[in-house]
Amino acid sequence: MEPVLKSKIAVIGGGPAGCACAYFLKQKGIYPVIFEKNSILKTLLPTGGGRCNLAYGDFDIKSLASNYPRGEKFLYSVFSRFSTAETLAFFEDIGVKTYMQEDGRFFPVSNSAADVRRHIIDAIQGVKVKNENVNSINTCRGGFEIKTDKAAYFFEKVIIAIGGHSALKLIKNLGHTIAAPVPSLTALKTSEDLSELAGVSLKNIKAKFAGAILGGDLLFTHNGVSGPLIYKISSLMARKDFPYKISFDFAGQVDLQNVLNENSQKSVKNIISDFVPKSLGGYILKSAHIDGNSKCAQIDGKMRDKILKYLNEFEINVVSAANGGEVVTCGGVSLDEVNSKTMQSKIVPNLFFCGEVLDIDGFCGGFNLQNCWSTAFVAAEGAAATG
Ligand SMILES: Cc1cc2nc3c(=O)[nH]c(=O)nc-3n(C[C@H](O)[C@H](O)[C@H](O)COP(=O)(O)OP(=O)(O)OC[C@H]3O[C@@H](n4cnc5c(N)ncnc54)[C@H](O)[C@@H]3O)c2cc1C
Repeated sequence: MEPVLKSKIAVIGGGPAGCACAYFLKQKGIYPVIFEKNSILKTLLPTGGGRCNLAYGDFDIKSLASNYPRGEKFLYSVFSRFSTAETLAFFEDIGVKTYMQEDGRFFPVSNSAADVRRHIIDAIQGVKVKNENVNSINTCRGGFEIKTDKAAYFFEKVIIAIGGHSALKLIKNLGHTIAAPVPSLTALKTSEDLSELAGVSLKNIKAKFAGAILGGDLLFTHNGVSGPLIYKISSLMARKDFPYKISFDFAGQVDLQNVLNENSQKSVKNIISDFVPKSLGGYILKSAHIDGNSKCAQIDGKMRDKILKYLNEFEINVVSAANGGEVVTCGGVSLDEVNSKTMQSKIVPNLFFCGEVLDIDGFCGGFNLQNCWSTAFVAAEGAAATG
């Protein structure tokens, strides 16, 4: 016997996308049922290091969409309906005051993801949340049968907001194509042993990879590299095969010849630490087989070339994403099979998607949550409008 639920719409997944979608439906007087296997909005808590970077201060739709290596064009029409301004208004409406940091990222004034979570939960009061794991979704009787670990339910419409990591087979079973999930915005593992550099960070350096050049901040980890620059590279390279090479320019234009000549009686390790952190300088000299205690006058032309090469073209070999370092998933429901004006499936009528479950992912900076709020709005409008 199917339990009788008055709602006609089920939202599967109570993360940022699912909850925002429930809110937008509630605004229209429609109360969906949310199925959430975990605690509601738990995934919001670690965002922005606990501060919740909820949007980015770019109010131009095309420019905003350019921050999504997957989904850029699809988002044009989504953002034309709901973008940064609407996101800020949404938060204002539910009592979350926001501010923009110097780097353009928006946070709540409380600097607390837990506070944002509380406000969203308050705003969806009246929406039923079933703490159940959805095991299958099947079309039946012009609607959908949802089976959880506790019961089976019937709904006329289903909005899937299960995020990027889990249960994608639920969607495959409905006939959708899934772009294989791989990590994006992640630290990277290198074949070189860089463990002695773990914790060393460098600001605003240039990286070359796959014919592209990017600038940003770098952090060495116990098994590779991380930091904003690496997150962006991992996102751009998410669909490329490992291994690949990245070369860093740590020092820019350096007149090493002149510096060594002017400091001929100083040790080379002291001079190199004018350009890079001391431990990195030590690593470079060791890799170049140069004794750091040598006087600068002893460093011959060949050694100088080697040092310069390490300073300007420090090459690493990336072998994989670092375990567990993933912030978003690249991959998900193929965008060719979703109508960007309604978020409705082009394959199964009355089935909708929003959030990271779609093959959309952006850089760090609030873009991934922006995708959630925007696609949630369009899905809610779409589900409210159809049949
Ligand atoms: C550490 C970290 C920090 C981040 N910081 C930021 C940030 O500051 N700004 C930003 O823009 N983005 C950030 N992100 C990315 C952002 O958190 C995600 O893009 C966003 O959470 C995706 O929301 P979603 O609702 O689509 O999916 P999710 O947040 O993954 O939510 C999906 C929900 O569905 C539930 N679910 C899944 N399968 C089932 C099932 N079968 N039955 C029932 N329930 C199910 C899950 O339990 C989950 O609660 C961060 C991510 C991480 C990991």
